[in-house]
Amino acid sequence: MSMRAVVFEEVGKTMEVQEVERPEPEPNGIVVETEACGICRSDWHAWRGDWDWLGVAPTPGLIFGHEPVGTITEIGEDIETLDVGDRVCVPFNLSDGTCRHCKAGRANICESVVPLGFAPFQPGAFAEEFPVRKADHNVVKLPDGVDPVDVAGLGCRFATAFHGLVHRVDITAGDWVAVHGCGGVGLSAVHIADALGANVVAVDLDEDKLEKADALGADETVDVTAVDGVPNAVKQVTPNGRGVEVSVDALGIAETCRNSVGSLSKGGQNLQIGLTTSEEEGEVSLPVDTIVMEEREFVGTFGMPPHEYEEIFSMMERGKIDPGKIVSKTVSLEEVPEVIASMDDYETVGIPVCNDF
Ligand SMILES: [Zn+2]
Ligand SMILES: [Zn+2]
Repeated sequence: MSMRAVVFEEVGKTMEVQEVERPEPEPNGIVVETEACGICRSDWHAWRGDWDWLGVAPTPGLIFGHEPVGTITEIGEDIETLDVGDRVCVPFNLSDGTCRHCKAGRANICESVVPLGFAPFQPGAFAEEFPVRKADHNVVKLPDGVDPVDVAGLGCRFATAFHGLVHRVDITAGDWVAVHGCGGVGLSAVHIADALGANVVAVDLDEDKLEKADALGADETVDVTAVDGVPNAVKQVTPNGRGVEVSVDALGIAETCRNSVGSLSKGGQNLQIGLTTSEEEGEVSLPVDTIVMEEREFVGTFGMPPHEYEEIFSMMERGKIDPGKIVSKTVSLEEVPEVIASMDDYETVGIPVCNDF
């Protein structure tokens, strides 16, 4: 039996839909029929070969897609908590459920983390079906009636922003939060910080993205192309020019990272969400002495452990947050390769979701 999937062949070569083997569940795994899957800048990074130095080098035949929602069609013999017919979503960083971080509720930084859709032994969801290893630990059952596109929109970017802002830094109502880079994760951060009661400053060089940020709850916007020095421009909109309590680098290039740290008030926290590109290879120089003398903090954040989905679902149910608002368009499986390739020009606004397999 075969199925249709978007298949990676080589770095930078537009992918194609091909007929491939249907997945089989491992004893502790499941197979999920895909209903929707977000298309992410991480797919673009991997396709462009940006993360070789991170050990994430896609091999020919790999199927991308790490923001899926679907219905379980098959379960392995050792599965205990899931059943055929359950509707689920899958956090992209799959854990073993047994190491010290998993036991401490931090499955997102599991000692043996496996990213969904970036390794040949754990293909992703730009396909009619996809497998999930160690599924008892790694899938989240959906509340009744939620829209698959909304939940796909919640996939890595919204969830990462949520975990970072809610669990990795301290935000109280009235705090100032800057978000540098208003792509999918940045817009998510704007929307969530607003829901947490913060005053939000959105920073980008694209007018459409700033407009979208404004619609999602930004109180101030800073157009990078129209100011002389981003950190100062951000500080100017805060009371007495003190800077922001929390600054989010939602892009991960050297410029946004330094601008983000530079926007902080004394004692402020930089939340680093963006991973760097082949340009930086993970290295960005920062004003260490200022960080020391002003007791600033530099905090990394990576995905979200499965148990925190409950917090998002309950806020969605009460209308406090709405990941669907970040979804910009829905496309078919055939259109996925083109959407990924088009991210070269950084013009995608919000989160595109594939919902037609
Ligand atoms: Zn673990
Ligand atoms: Zn993603």
